[in-house]
Amino acid sequence: MIIVIIGAQWGDEGKGKVVDLLADRFDIVARYQGGHNAGHSVYVGDKAFVLRLLPSGIIHEDTTCVLGNGMVIDPKAFFEEVDQMQSQGISITPERLIVTSRAHLIMPYHRALDHTSEERLGNEKIGTTLRGIGPAYEDKVGRRGIRVSDALSPEVLKLRIERNLEEANRIIVTYGQPPLYADQIFEETSALVERLKPFVCETSHFFSEAKKQNKKILLEGAQATLLDVDHGTYPYVTSSNPTAGGASVGAGIPPHHITGVLGIVRTYATRVGEGPFPTEMLDEEETMANLIRKRGNEYGSVTKRPRRCGWFDAVATRYAAELNGFNSVALTKLDVLDALDEIKVCIGYEINGERVDTFPAVSQDLRLIKPIYETLEGWKSETLGVTDIEKLPKKAREYVEFLSNSIGVEIGLISTGPERDQTIIVQNSVMEGWFDK
Ligand code: GDP
Repeated sequence: MIIVIIGAQWGDEGKGKVVDLLADRFDIVARYQGGHNAGHSVYVGDKAFVLRLLPSGIIHEDTTCVLGNGMVIDPKAFFEEVDQMQSQGISITPERLIVTSRAHLIMPYHRALDHTSEERLGNEKIGTTLRGIGPAYEDKVGRRGIRVSDALSPEVLKLRIERNLEEANRIIVTYGQPPLYADQIFEETSALVERLKPFVCETSHFFSEAKKQNKKILLEGAQATLLDVDHGTYPYVTSSNPTAGGASVGAGIPPHHITGVLGIVRTYATRVGEGPFPTEMLDEEETMANLIRKRGNEYGSVTKRPRRCGWFDAVATRYAAELNGFNSVALTKLDVLDALDEIKVCIGYEINGERVDTFPAVSQDLRLIKPIYETLEGWKSETLGVTDIEKLPKKAREYVEFLSNSIGVEIGLISTGPERDQTIIVQNSVMEGWFDK
């Protein structure tokens, strides 16, 4: 069984918690795109784990984790995270953490280029995490990238660094930054790659064997659907494909081997960084945004930046459901809305006076959207920690059903708090076997 988990909105839907919940029922958890810009928070008892690069499955000692070929890996950040996890009592060995030889490396000049690129864009900046992820993908597509397998050969690594740095320094210096030195980068990177070596493996064969042995594999998307470089709100997107198709390419698994796709949908929406956000709570709804931000702890897990908050957008989420083919949905953060008198759901858009029910591809159109809302009554009672759907207030159940109907997918799981056991598993034939050990 191979399941893909994908954020349905603009990220931070609570994928970390859901993956963590499922991880000990799966043999392998793999990431297939992105880099150390993910930032999942997982709470287990009184311990908080923040995962940027490693799959959330790493917290479970019996789970093997894989960093797939669709990822870009900063070796320095990799070991910082490995060391951090070890200091929190998680044992990490090459037996349970595999880095694909085809993944690309993020180099120090990529970080520098991320800064210059954002500076160049000025007011139009993307709002990247400045970790070099976008520039590393640019090099990958530009066929200049350095893959893990290349870096294992000192000659190739040296040559590529020298060649790439010539061009990178031209840009870096133009923006008034000090040039970088090839020797220094080579030395630093070689030491890290040497430490990385035991973790490296060619994984398409690994996955093929795992499939033959009927292993359960979970493919964990980072970022989210509306940040997909092809399908998201371009250009305010990430540089990779978090959507379901990306899972096949980014892990090296045939599409028809994938059993199902689980969408992670939050009961409201947030967005970090720049870019269009049709249901954003603006000035007149600032008090509401502050309430949700506080109750939902909507601050970046790594950057601590306050997230922009907004109402549930059924048009955008239905688009995500169609695009990814969600078989089921995990609805998160129901408890955050407990305090609200009324809850708005965007059920359609108005653009230039016309009703639109599909998600527009044109970036300019996204800025013109006037959301059409339906207002539902709040339930005004506590759902935190509820584990049985029958125990939810009637209005909360109605809200869940309304969202499910508006996106056209059954809800398989409802999250009622950040902890593993604060979860309702809805009996759902689509998810049969997903929760078995
Ligand atoms: P991710 O990147 O999609 O995993 O999202 P983040 O980890 O950045 O943000 C999700 C935050 O919400 C984390 O602090 C989670 O612990 C928390 N969280 C997840 N599910 C729930 C929930 O159902 N209720 C509440 N109150 N918090 C939740």
